[in-house]
Amino acid sequence: MSNKPANNIQDLQYFGEFGGVNPSISDSATYTFLHAKTMLDTFEGHAEGCYLYSRHTSPSNLYLSKALAAMEFTETANVAASGMGAITSVFLQVCGAGDHIVSARTIYGGSYAFLKNFAPKLNISTSFVDITSLEKVEAAIKPSTKMIYCEAISNPLLEIANLKELSKIAKKHNILLVVDNTFSPLLISPQKLGADVTIHSLTKFINGTNDTVGGVVCGTQQFIDSLRSVNDGAAMLLGPVMDSLRASSILKNLRTLHIRMKKHSENAHYLAEKFEQDGLKVVYPGLKSHKDHELFKTLYNEEYGFGGMMTVDVGNLEKANELMELMQHENLGYLAVSLGFYKTLFSAPGTSTSSEIPIEEQKQMGLSNGIIRFSIGLDNDIERTYRAMRRCMTKVGVL
Ligand SMILES: *Cc1c(COP(=O)(O)O)cnc(C)c1O
Repeated sequence: MSNKPANNIQDLQYFGEFGGVNPSISDSATYTFLHAKTMLDTFEGHAEGCYLYSRHTSPSNLYLSKALAAMEFTETANVAASGMGAITSVFLQVCGAGDHIVSARTIYGGSYAFLKNFAPKLNISTSFVDITSLEKVEAAIKPSTKMIYCEAISNPLLEIANLKELSKIAKKHNILLVVDNTFSPLLISPQKLGADVTIHSLTKFINGTNDTVGGVVCGTQQFIDSLRSVNDGAAMLLGPVMDSLRASSILKNLRTLHIRMKKHSENAHYLAEKFEQDGLKVVYPGLKSHKDHELFKTLYNEEYGFGGMMTVDVGNLEKANELMELMQHENLGYLAVSLGFYKTLFSAPGTSTSSEIPIEEQKQMGLSNGIIRFSIGLDNDIERTYRAMRRCMTKVGVL
C-alpha cells in the first residue's frame, strides 16, 4: 500500500459507458433484471454488480464511494446525502436502546446536539469526555458502551485525538473507534492508526466548492453491507441517500484534493506563524505552542502539512464580530460557517457552529467567545493576505 494516500486517486481508472474518461452518470432510480431470480438474490445481498434501487446504491455513488475508500485505506465506503446523514446512520446502526457512546466533548455542533438531545429519545446515552485524556476516556467505558467517537482534529478547538492509543483502548474493550476526519482529509488516515470506521462531511475540504452537502462512511465490507442492508441497515432505511449527479460532481473535485490540502496547509501555517509572532493567541497544530504539536507529528502524513484550520482568540465577541465584518468588507474572505473553500471563511464558533453547546459547557472546554475560527483559503499571494489582515486587526484594535 502506498504511503501517499492522495496518489491513490490517480491509480483509479474510469471508462465511461461510451469510453468517456469520466464514468457515466447514472440517471435511474430503479434497475431492470433480465432474470427474476437475480432480483431475489440482489435483495438478499448476493448479486455482485447488480443494482436494485438507488436508495440502496447507484453506479455513480459506488464510483465515489470506491475513490473515498481508496483514500482512507478501507475495504469500502458508502456515501450519504450529508455529513450528518453519514454520522447519524453510524450511531443508529451500532447502537440500540440501552447502549452507550463515549464521545469527545469538542465535536461538531450537530453531532453534539444529536447525541445530547436526540439519541436519549431512543434511550442511547453518551458520556462526553476530554478526548485528550486517555484515562478519562477509558474510565467512561461501561459494559453497555458500543463505541468511542471523536474527530481527528476537533471542531472548533483543534485538539488532536491520539488515535493510536484510542484504538488500543477500543480493542481492549471490544468496542469500535469511530472517527470524523472532516478537518483532516489526507493529513490523517484514521484507518492506518487503528480506527474501525472513518466518516467525512464531504461538504468541506473534499468537495471544496461549497455547492452541495454530502457525507461518507468508510469501513469494512461487512460494516458497510450492514449499513446498506435492506432489512435493518440505517443508511438504507433512514434514506439519507446522495443524488447521483452530486456524486459524480464530488468525484471530479476529489481529484484535486491533494493539491488543495497542501495549499490550505501552507497558507494557514504561514498566517498562524505570523500572527503568533505578532502576539496574538493562535491555535494551529503546526505551531510548536500547540499542546499536541508533537503528537500530531506522530500521526500525520507529513507532505500534507498541518491543515487549513486555525483559530485566533481576539478577547471578546464584539471585537471578533467587528474584525470579521471588516475582513469581509476588505474581501479577505467570507463571514460564513463551513470550511475547505477556495476563499477564507471565518466565524465565531461560540455563536454559530458550536452554539448547540450550552454556554457553561463551552466555558468548561475552553471555548471563549472571542475565538474566531478560520478556514484558510487557497490565496496565491498569502503575504499580501497577511498584510491586509494585519491592517484590519490594527484598525479594530486587536493588534
Ligand atoms: C460540517 C461538519 C459535519 C456535518 O456535515 P454536513 O455535511 O453539514 O451534514 C460533521 N462533522 C464536522 C467536523 C463538520 O465540520
